[in-house]
Amino acid sequence: MKKILLITWGMGYIWSHAVVAFEQAGYRTVIVDNLYNSDLSTYEWIGNILWYKPDFHELDLRNKNELEEIFKKYDFDWVLHFAGLKAPFESQEKPVLYFQNNISGSLNLFELMNTYDVKNIVFSSSASTYSTVNVPPITEKCNQVPETPYATSKFVWEKILEDLSKFSGFRSINLRYFNPVWCHPSGHIWEYLDDIPNNLFPYIFQVLSGRLPSLKVFGSDYDTLDGTGVRDYIDVVDLVDAHVLAYKKLSGITGNFWFNDSFNVWTGKGTSVLQAIDVVETVVWKKVEYSMMDRRPGDIPVSYCNTNKIQIELGWKSLTSLEQSIQNSWKFYNKQ
Ligand code: NAD
Ligand code: UDP
Repeated sequence: MKKILLITWGMGYIWSHAVVAFEQAGYRTVIVDNLYNSDLSTYEWIGNILWYKPDFHELDLRNKNELEEIFKKYDFDWVLHFAGLKAPFESQEKPVLYFQNNISGSLNLFELMNTYDVKNIVFSSSASTYSTVNVPPITEKCNQVPETPYATSKFVWEKILEDLSKFSGFRSINLRYFNPVWCHPSGHIWEYLDDIPNNLFPYIFQVLSGRLPSLKVFGSDYDTLDGTGVRDYIDVVDLVDAHVLAYKKLSGITGNFWFNDSFNVWTGKGTSVLQAIDVVETVVWKKVEYSMMDRRPGDIPVSYCNTNKIQIELGWKSLTSLEQSIQNSWKFYNKQ
């Protein structure tokens, strides 16, 4: 019989890709999401890619009774769980909302996992839990000092999972990532945008498709090769593959052993904003209009990580080139 995975908040950007990856790897997924930052078109596209639709339940994780009905209905083996609200800047304006949504919804989930003896979980943490004074490349041993309510919610969660592992026998893996971009190679699923994007690549593609006039490059005086900010951009399909390997790692643990560990999921390679523009222009053969602006408040100059641990212990490596990822994204934009 197929293993059944509960994918919380699975209609979102990353988790819709995870649903596809797990289904294609032979697992059965059940999605729950309140559609706060997604819509049902993603469900249609998941169906188009797979040729069938996994079960979906529209519910809010903060509603424990409804969530319990899901636990009664399915015999879950495993949970993939992803914080719902994810905008660091917004979290500074609405900290209570972030704690309420991200932490209290999760506590309901953990309680039910405990009650129904479903103790394997992969959690999407974030590189934003690392202190911004760490010098890249970031390793898993670098200091964690969250600086926004969003990052705090992730950090607290990691700690809760560590304790649930030690004291309640959970097996948990935290995957820390930062700049996932792009979309599925089918060109069908992509980050849901109902507003002007904050992130670099969605913004560039809006400019290329004529929806926004030009890109503002935030900061040209950083101590980097060309003065612009450097990030480690990871293809979303590679990213979700790390979750499949994390799942396999946890599944391989036999007996009554608890487990808790954290892994960085990045490529290990930094790309500056101007380099990113250059690669996009080469791949899509179009000019990206941009102008140089002051630094964006809160931005760090450089962030990329060391990927040795995940390569050695989970056998994961980022495989998709930046060029290929851009090609995939462009396919999506051409369909709009
Ligand atoms: P997303 O906003 O696209 O997806 C999250 C989903 O959660 C949405 O579909 C939303 O409707 C749903 N949701 C929110 N609150 C809910 C609740 N209370 N009950 C049920 N559903 C709820 O986000 P994403 O980009 O797919 O990110 C997924 C995870 O990855 C998040 O934990 C995020 O913090 C983490 N992450 C994302 C990035 C990034 O740049 N995208 C970077 C690092 C970490
Ligand atoms: N960036 C930019 N213009 C934009 C959006 C982002 O110049 O419209 C820069 C930003 O200053 C940073 C890099 O692109 O150096 C990545 O920004 P993004 O918001 O995508 O990721 P984050 O800063 O959260 O890592």
